[in-house]
Amino acid sequence: MSELPSIPAQRILGHSGIAVSPIAWGMWRFAEDGRSVSEAARLVNAALDAGITLLDTADIYGFDGASGFGDAEALLGEVLAAEPGLRARMVLASKGGIRPPLPYDQSPAYLAEAIDASLQRMRVDTIDLYQIHRPDILAHPQEVARALDAAVAAGKIRALGVSNFTMAQTEALQHFLGTGLVATQPEISPLRIDCFENGELDQAMRLGLTPLAWSPLGGGQLLTPQSPRDRAVAEELDRIASEQGVSRSVAAYGWLMAHPAGIVPIIGSQNPERIAEGAQAAGMRWTRQDWYAVLVAARGERLP
Ligand code: NAP
Repeated sequence: MSELPSIPAQRILGHSGIAVSPIAWGMWRFAEDGRSVSEAARLVNAALDAGITLLDTADIYGFDGASGFGDAEALLGEVLAAEPGLRARMVLASKGGIRPPLPYDQSPAYLAEAIDASLQRMRVDTIDLYQIHRPDILAHPQEVARALDAAVAAGKIRALGVSNFTMAQTEALQHFLGTGLVATQPEISPLRIDCFENGELDQAMRLGLTPLAWSPLGGGQLLTPQSPRDRAVAEELDRIASEQGVSRSVAAYGWLMAHPAGIVPIIGSQNPERIAEGAQAAGMRWTRQDWYAVLVAARGERLP
């Protein structure tokens, strides 16, 4: 059985020199269910105490289709106001560029406004990683690059990333950026494996971008698999999980982390115990056989 390399204690975001934990925690669902500031602080502390230092949010999180734009960032801002010491313990990632009901706007004027609004809501001076959330087909990448480079030069942003970009869109923005991209955030999970063979992860490795995997459990679908294919993936993960004394969700994170691109899964749970449990994934060991067994189950057919 040939073993894959163990997971390093830290990953560096692209060429930025910014060190992060090999697994992140996300706040998409943070402002749901009327969560109080003290409950929110408990989640942030659960992540940081478990050694998870990369925290991912977005200006759109909290939006329910009618109102609430900025709510997740604002809730984090309240947590940081109550416990200012937390800011230095985290690498803070946010996103912008989705503007309901347009749906997208990456014009320079709007981006500059959106970055300032995110800083104000979160009550911080700097966003460590600012990501364009989804591409605006009507924005010229040179204009987007100019707006982002200006925000970096002004000290409002330390490093830049994209999310849900095609490979060509990533390359075009990268071409015009002075600062350069350090991260890309596609959906990747044992149920969503397109990236492994469509070139996105190869591009990330070639450009030196750290891939951050959104919905690493398929939005929770991996815990309640319905189709025969999804159940087969869960069974393979359960087999490996039981051998290593971890849960299925931890095995799913570990599977992503074992890929050579250095994928950083973003835990989506808003449960303090489950967030802390996710950090166990860094201790998993993978053989090539086990890794490929999960991939083959996910493909639903053998590799050639
Ligand atoms: P996920 O980890 O795939 O799904 C999390 C969901 O699974 C939660 O509702 C969680 O519920 C549930 N769950 C059930 N059993 C669980 C278990 N044993 N362990 C962990 N979770 C369990 O992630 P996600 O929330 O869909 O997304 C994760 C993060 O990715 C987001 O917070 C956000 O930062 C990012 N994201 C980015 C984009 C983008 O376009 N860039 C899109 C979506 C998400 P409980 O809370 O009850 O545990």
